[in-house]
Amino acid sequence: MTDVAALIEDVVAGNRILAQQGVLDGFGHVSARHPSEPGRYFLSRSLAPELVTADDVMLYDLDSNVQNGDARRPYLERFIHGEIYKARPDVMAVVHSHSPSVIPFAASSIKLRPIYHMSGFLRGETEVFDIRDHFGCTDMLVRNAAQGAALAATLGARGVALMRGHGFVAVGGSVPEVIYRAIYTELNASMQQRAIGLGGTVTYLDEEEAALAEATNRGVLERPWLMWKKKALGH
Ligand code: MN
Repeated sequence: MTDVAALIEDVVAGNRILAQQGVLDGFGHVSARHPSEPGRYFLSRSLAPELVTADDVMLYDLDSNVQNGDARRPYLERFIHGEIYKARPDVMAVVHSHSPSVIPFAASSIKLRPIYHMSGFLRGETEVFDIRDHFGCTDMLVRNAAQGAALAATLGARGVALMRGHGFVAVGGSVPEVIYRAIYTELNASMQQRAIGLGGTVTYLDEEEAALAEATNRGVLERPWLMWKKKALGH
């Protein structure tokens, strides 16, 4: 299998894994930067993530124009991906999700923070992109390059940014890493709400603990990835 074919298989697996984990439903998407052409990325045509196959994956440039004359319908929010790849040369994969436990933190003054070691990548406080601050009242979707660039600016150098009234983006240095981050962002949000609901004082991982935990987890990403991929693709 070529590098490109293997990457497309991982994009397909990533879509199905996140659908199985409840991080994506009929909406949301997974992309990956081309392994040898950094000015291009792979993303499915407009399709529910659970239904994505290798044939559905299209190639885009970083202005989010579909390449190779492919006339199939693209996702409206493809600019999220193109503008993050432009702003972050280190990012090789992007997830956009509306997962339910994360939305409250995008609406609240309570910041999403790492409640356990699995989400050390959330170190510090996760920023919220409020599209209204930049573009006034919209349908909340990231529909063009300017909106994508504003979201990428809020993301900065972090692994995750929340989107008020909408969802979140996660980025990573590989497809397995971004899938891991998307899953554990949702789990952290759910557990953080339960911890807050207990009513006492909540103690989060501090910056150093979170950084140490992230470094450890990065070394064992393959373990959950191979399990998730097998469940999603059957091999
Ligand atoms: Mn969306």
